[in-house]
Amino acid sequence: MDFTLRGWLSELERLGRLKTVSRQVSPVHEIAAVTLKAGPDVAIMFNNVTGYDVPVVTGLAGSRPAMAASLGLGVREMLNRFNQALNSPVPCQVEASGHQEVKSRVYRGEAVDLEKILPACVHHEFDSGKYLTAAMLITKDPETGVRNMAIHRHELHGGNKLGALLLPRHTANIFNRAEALDKPLEVALIIGAHPVVLLASQATTRLGVDELEIAGGLMGQPLKLVKCETVDLEVPVESEFVLEGRILPNVRHDEGPFGEYPRTYGPQSRRHFLEIGCVTHREKPIYHTITPATLEHLLLGAIPREATMLQLIKQAVPTTLAVHLTPSGGCRYHCVIQIDKQNEGEAKNAIFAALASSAEIKHVVVVDKDIDPFDLADVEWAISTRLQASKDAFIVAGAMGNKLDPSANDGLGDKLGLDATTPSDPQARQRFQKIRVPGVENVNLDDYFD
Ligand code: MN
Repeated sequence: MDFTLRGWLSELERLGRLKTVSRQVSPVHEIAAVTLKAGPDVAIMFNNVTGYDVPVVTGLAGSRPAMAASLGLGVREMLNRFNQALNSPVPCQVEASGHQEVKSRVYRGEAVDLEKILPACVHHEFDSGKYLTAAMLITKDPETGVRNMAIHRHELHGGNKLGALLLPRHTANIFNRAEALDKPLEVALIIGAHPVVLLASQATTRLGVDELEIAGGLMGQPLKLVKCETVDLEVPVESEFVLEGRILPNVRHDEGPFGEYPRTYGPQSRRHFLEIGCVTHREKPIYHTITPATLEHLLLGAIPREATMLQLIKQAVPTTLAVHLTPSGGCRYHCVIQIDKQNEGEAKNAIFAALASSAEIKHVVVVDKDIDPFDLADVEWAISTRLQASKDAFIVAGAMGNKLDPSANDGLGDKLGLDATTPSDPQARQRFQKIRVPGVENVNLDDYFD
């Protein structure tokens, strides 16, 4: 397989999942509007963006089948492959010289005017400005030298300046240690990569694991890197754009509001500040934007989280079959767990494991193996017919939640467990049997309708 953005776009075209737009579109709202209207089944290449020579692509892997296809897999195999990649990362290969197309064009100093170079979009009504939403930030732990890669939202602040939201995860951990020494942290932002690189960047793994090596694990071959021009970092050689710069110590700037994955705005606050010293890009580069809260955005978070959760919940309840972080819960807050229940109490243990796996999880529903956890009508049916609140629901108040949840108290929030499973006793279970019309699955209406 060709694990480059251009290779993936060719594959999308072959699958009939790539739409192109030749008419002129504005990067302010219009690209996001067309993306929303088109829905999750297509990627879109906007070839004529007002004010720019650079095309904008969105929706690279906007559905589970598309994400699975990018790994050369079926939907059901995706989580296991992700866990394999976590367990056996593949070291990267740094190209000494030769293939360096990403440096076809180099901007330094005054020439680094990000708004002129990048067709960054304004996505939502009350967003404070233009944002990079698909830029992957690569940095190195100054103590261990291990790379880290993550997506942060970056607001264009004019010229070579960017704002960023660093939630308390790995990039923030690394930066905090640099800042304690009053030192800037060198970073490289890459834009335009194959979905495996985007997916790897979202791994919910421990500090000290290089997400670029997880990309190698997903591909089954080393990711090829090239050294940056002005910072001591390496970036994927097939990137479309590379922005090299530094997060400044003891500098904060107003950032936001910004429409986020819960489909509400993250409020304005004083946040981290970057200076970009050098930008490089390929010949005729392609710019990638992710419209926030679309499935493209949500699934990138969901797949790695579901993979990690499946492992953890299986440790607690070995009969666990599937985990689904639902799109309406932002693929963060709502979790459906499917188990092949053998013993009373298993569902509640699965809920504990799910709640412990991530601070973001708020509400967990457990269903039996005759319920499809990806069919939310089926899940609601199980809640409506298999749950009595006084014994099957429980609340844990005041646990750590997520700061972007508008109903949480600055991240402090409640957890809810719903056991929608049937009794393990086979006799008692019969009362819950689903009605079924024999033969319905084999009916071809063309054989019946005149
Ligand atoms: Mn990390």
